[in-house]
Amino acid sequence: MARYIFITGGVVSSLGKGLMAASLAALLQARGYKVRIRKFDPYLNVDPGTMSPYQHGEVYVTDDGAETDLDLGHYERFTGVSAHQNDNITSGRVYRDIITKERRGDYLGATVQVIPHVTDAIKEFALADQDDHDFILCEIGGTVGDIESLPFIEAIRQLRNELPVEQTCLVHVTLVPYISAAGELKTKPTQHSVRELTSLGVQPNLLLCRCEHELPETERAKIALFCNVRKEAVIQALDASSIYAVPQQYHGEGLDREVLRHFGMTEEAPEPDLSRWEDVIDRYENYEGEVTIGVVGKYVGLPDAYKSLNEALVHGGMANRVKVNIKWIDAEIFEQEDGDIAAQLEPMHGILVPGGFGERGSEGKIAAVRFARERGVPFFGICLGMQMACIEGARNTAGIPEASSTEFGETSEPIVGIITEWMSKEGLQQRSADTDLGGTMRLGAYAAKLSPNSHVSQIYGGATEISERHRHRYEVNSAYKDRLEAGGLVFSGMSPDGLLPEIVERPDHPWFVGVQFHPELKSKPFDPHPLFAGFIAAALKQARLV
Ligand code: GLN
Repeated sequence: MARYIFITGGVVSSLGKGLMAASLAALLQARGYKVRIRKFDPYLNVDPGTMSPYQHGEVYVTDDGAETDLDLGHYERFTGVSAHQNDNITSGRVYRDIITKERRGDYLGATVQVIPHVTDAIKEFALADQDDHDFILCEIGGTVGDIESLPFIEAIRQLRNELPVEQTCLVHVTLVPYISAAGELKTKPTQHSVRELTSLGVQPNLLLCRCEHELPETERAKIALFCNVRKEAVIQALDASSIYAVPQQYHGEGLDREVLRHFGMTEEAPEPDLSRWEDVIDRYENYEGEVTIGVVGKYVGLPDAYKSLNEALVHGGMANRVKVNIKWIDAEIFEQEDGDIAAQLEPMHGILVPGGFGERGSEGKIAAVRFARERGVPFFGICLGMQMACIEGARNTAGIPEASSTEFGETSEPIVGIITEWMSKEGLQQRSADTDLGGTMRLGAYAAKLSPNSHVSQIYGGATEISERHRHRYEVNSAYKDRLEAGGLVFSGMSPDGLLPEIVERPDHPWFVGVQFHPELKSKPFDPHPLFAGFIAAALKQARLV
């Protein structure tokens, strides 16, 4: 049976619990263990699919089509283990399932309550699909003390009683703030947060203390004494130079060693092989050049809204040993009269139009595509970005001036529109323009066939069939294929049935690729996605030209 590591957070949010969970999993994996990470989100949305990127950051999509919390992206990037639908649960989903069962009469007249019904559902989720994993890490979203997270903490309390004693561990991530006026680190918030946790019946085994200054031995001893943990299990977590340095840094502080000691595995545990992380840090820190990429999008005020994209660009840099500077540009500025597109985009070595929803900023994005096409600047369009590349091509190279997307309202030339039926592994899928927003998109992994000898097939190492993750409601209308191709925009990737355009490219341009899927979701620091590696290589060439 798998061992369980529960991860809670205290004092404040944004302590980097997700990164901590991902790093601990990576360290255990580096010792040869099979790991899996799960996220419990206390909010009442059924999934984050309908939440604004401004509120919640990016929605991370799994191969099996689940719209999940962005922390699952960290988990996948740090471990390489593909996340699944059943690796992320929200209070909303738990309640929805329980209420559906209640309406069906499944509870046979019983009163349905938080304890045991909600807590049982949470435990069931935690215990499902253990396969042959050595460790299952479960991160609880939110901060201990929040009303919403109470059923999750209670479920952990019950699980820790029900599972063999040596089978579970609880890591509590806290903050030890530095008060500059006193020149001291303060342990009281940590003490209070642990007290809160123990008042709910849960004793942490390890404390990971986020701090801006070294944690002196005296403070460490104080925390251990007041929080009832061993002194060695009070681990300091200083800010790291980059997220890629976190696994090694936490290893240096003894995080994985202490977890294994807790489980009584010190003797048997192999030493970790951290060479993968050493290489990643080396590529990240010792770069040989720099490029600047302009990302012309909508949610540019909040980098978390494009978390995976940001990471994938950095990975593309690692593949080429270059530093990638990202300039986030609000597409709407190109729609204003004084929005000087040349002044903004001329310094860019590559232009990327990312995914997005809605009409706002679309004309600005189309203007950015045009600039990249006309000036020969490497261009990468992702999802909505590919759709904008097709509309731009239609308007300016295929003689269809009215070209638009039905997402932006009625149009006489629907270059992009709703496709109402398509095939997936599960069979025929159907949708209509007026169904609920939640779950009506083409979601998850779909295959695409690449034209042999195309630029993208070369980028994918000669492959002619690939699988990538999707999250969109609209599709490029293949009825326009011939006219767009006559304008120089070649459809080099199609769905296997030949109906849905997946990739477009311009053979007469140094690097111009639009993809209907989200390649950024599968890029890893130790395995950069070929499209990002290729895009950054092209940007590097461009940088040398200008
Ligand atoms: N809004 C577009 C669609 O729904 C693109 C979505 C996206 O970029 N993820 O098809």
